[in-house]
Amino acid sequence: MLTSTYQDVIAAAERLEGFAHRTPVFTSRTLDAETGAQVFIKCENLQRGGSFKFRGAFNALSQFDPQQRKAGVVAFSSGNHAQGIALAAGLLGIPATLVMPTDAPAAKVAATRGYGASVVLYDRFSEDREQIGRTLAAEHGLTLIPPYDHPDVLAGQGTAAKELLEFTGPLDALFVGLGGGGMLSGTALSTRALAPDCLLYGVEPEAGNDGQRSFRSGSIVHIDTPATIADGAQTQHLGNCTFPIIRDKVDDILTVTDAQLVAEMKFFMQRMKMVVEPTGCLGLAALRQLGKRFKGQRVGIIVTGGNVDIERYAALLREAP
Ligand SMILES: *Cc1c(COP(=O)(O)O)cnc(C)c1O
Repeated sequence: MLTSTYQDVIAAAERLEGFAHRTPVFTSRTLDAETGAQVFIKCENLQRGGSFKFRGAFNALSQFDPQQRKAGVVAFSSGNHAQGIALAAGLLGIPATLVMPTDAPAAKVAATRGYGASVVLYDRFSEDREQIGRTLAAEHGLTLIPPYDHPDVLAGQGTAAKELLEFTGPLDALFVGLGGGGMLSGTALSTRALAPDCLLYGVEPEAGNDGQRSFRSGSIVHIDTPATIADGAQTQHLGNCTFPIIRDKVDDILTVTDAQLVAEMKFFMQRMKMVVEPTGCLGLAALRQLGKRFKGQRVGIIVTGGNVDIERYAALLREAP
């Protein structure tokens, strides 16, 4: 069983140097006043490709051997992993094939093609994307890179927290959005190395609390695709690589509602002048839910992404109270 360590995160950071943005860390006096804490916001919505997924994708692809590079990479994703893979592959000169549903937003398909990747469309109601991806991999010798359950992917994701903690010094608590756990497990490696006493929380949409149930029961819980606006966290289960790290190194998993996510999207837009996608709001929503629990303490939030369709963004903000 492959297991990743903080050494792998350090190696990933070296590979990403000069390719990934060292994203900014912002603060908000409004937020500090409201929570009584000193809050540091790591802005992965401003990462290349619009989310942290570029980190894991680039770290994985840059370790391909010559034959893998020549044959190319395949991934199935309609979301941020697709953009991260397409962008990283383009930079490294590796051919990329993305398997996306026919009803994926046109803008996402166009952005993926714009990075130079080929897109293979499938019908999400009658076809199995994993099967299509595996067949492509087998027939053309492509290497499949999954969105979270891969040691190089999670080590790459861990570089965001490494940058944050190197910038802020040890924090008292850190809140990170959770889907399949690539981000949270990578963050856990960095946090336990750089701030061993920091409380580390994963945050899921309430409708998809498989991670919380897995964490509390000690084994991976599978659920149906949850109905939530947090499309980056609509995963059905944690991974075999990500779960053991989360189980051993994370303090707890919290949940928030879609309405809380929309309120934070509005906060980010109005107060911080930032476009954040619903899934990117998980961390802040959880901190605010805890009120003044961290009064007088130093707290980190990772804003995981900013890719949201304009129409959808406008509609969600219009609904916000
Ligand atoms: C992928 C993604 C997540 C969840 O990350 P995992 O590694 O699957 O846990 C959270 N936020 C955004 C914006 C994402 O794209």
